[in-house]
Amino acid sequence: MESLWTESVQDRTIAYPRLEGDTRVQVLIVGGGLAGILCARLLTDAGLECLVVEQGRIGRGATGLTTAKVTLQHGLEYADMIERIGLERTRLYQYAQQDALLQMQAMADAVSCDHEYRSAYVYSTQGRAVLEREAAAYEALDMPYHLLDDAPLPFEHACALGVPEQSQFNPLKFLWGLTPGLAVCEHTKVIGVDGNRAFTDDGATITADHIVLATRYPLVNIPGWYFIKLNQYRSYILALKQAFPIDGMFIGAQSGSFSFRTYKDYLLVGGGGHKTGEAGGQYRKLREFVQAVCPRATEEGAWATQDCMSLDGAPYAGIHRNSAPELLVASGFSKWGMTSAMLAAIVLRDLLVDGQSPYDEVVSPRRKKPLGEVARRGLASAKGMLRPTTKRCSHMGCGLTHNDAEGSWDCSCHGSRFDDNGTVLDNPALKDISVS
Ligand SMILES: Cc1cc2nc3c(=O)[nH]c(=O)nc-3n(C[C@H](O)[C@H](O)[C@H](O)COP(=O)(O)OP(=O)(O)OC[C@H]3O[C@@H](n4cnc5c(N)ncnc54)[C@H](O)[C@@H]3O)c2cc1C
Repeated sequence: MESLWTESVQDRTIAYPRLEGDTRVQVLIVGGGLAGILCARLLTDAGLECLVVEQGRIGRGATGLTTAKVTLQHGLEYADMIERIGLERTRLYQYAQQDALLQMQAMADAVSCDHEYRSAYVYSTQGRAVLEREAAAYEALDMPYHLLDDAPLPFEHACALGVPEQSQFNPLKFLWGLTPGLAVCEHTKVIGVDGNRAFTDDGATITADHIVLATRYPLVNIPGWYFIKLNQYRSYILALKQAFPIDGMFIGAQSGSFSFRTYKDYLLVGGGGHKTGEAGGQYRKLREFVQAVCPRATEEGAWATQDCMSLDGAPYAGIHRNSAPELLVASGFSKWGMTSAMLAAIVLRDLLVDGQSPYDEVVSPRRKKPLGEVARRGLASAKGMLRPTTKRCSHMGCGLTHNDAEGSWDCSCHGSRFDDNGTVLDNPALKDISVS
């Protein structure tokens, strides 16, 4: 199985045509994942003429392989954010995420996508202090929460910090529920953008007043410094039956811990994550955990995907860079793309329809960058470029390492991946490589 979500929509998906010739639209959206489809939905509903172009089938990127916990509790985030950008700006960011969550829940209620309201929890296996610090941030932000000494988890933990009225759903049923009335082309890969024109690998062109890059890693990433502003992390998911019951959605506070949610009679366990191109626990770590905690569980499916991590954990939604006001971006969801893709769509709609967004200062890709992190990533990129290996990435020439668990060649600088024949699996690389 590719994932529970792709299985569940096998018989519902219609095939969209490939784009041919020269086309003109008001808004071109490149990428048919959750971010692209949400942007198209909101902009189309606002009266703009949009076209989504997707290189493969819609929903088959990270969105089709996610865990789909829809929550504004993004692990431990708010205490650090208050320290970094102050209470007032963190309040604006939290308000933006809350707005996105509520709009997402209203949309999910209106389509058939197995939507369920649940509490979201962060649990700690190493003491309470880390959660008490985050709870103090919730208090300062007037966020409702509960601290549980004994969360319903079948392994030892110190406590869990819960936020009520969050959601879980089937992301592909949700995505397909948004598509009626949208203009979409599939099997249409954009290979370049020049001002208001985009070019596909088949020789088609699209001229648009605005071009939105919703390709997870923006297709245009050297102007705009996205190759420094983003790196990618991979993570692994097992779908189990006969595991343990849980009431809620959980994620561990400590690195190397696990995440859990249910879907029908499945338990999804996520973890084993690592920076793409580097070593990590992968499926082995998950299977060891399952063996230790619920050895009778049966593994029904296993899949992995990756997401773009921004410099500060908040998404990039807005004008791509000062010198290209016609180009917009929705990226950097940092493994929390359910609410953050919605937030990006709200911001882009507001920018294109009203010319401004109240959330611009906290999600604009042009916001102030944390310099320490910029330096750290710059150094990592430089090291990757100098790595003395023969397999080189077609994006910026960095050295590739082999990912034995998945049989791919992965770049640790920017996260591109290639299969054993050299075909691109994950961007930002656009071109295949020779692996002979
Ligand atoms: C293991 C894992 C678990 C996660 N769990 C959660 C969770 O529980 N809750 C949560 O909020 N978030 C979660 N996330 C994050 C979330 O899944 C992502 O942030 C979100 O799905 C990203 O959506 P997207 O539309 O940006 O990207 P994608 O879904 O990857 O869509 C991008 C699309 O662009 C297309 N594309 C790329 N390049 C081109 C091109 N040149 N031309 C045309 N099309 C192109 C791709 O084919 C793809 O379909 C998780 C992430 C991971 C890795």
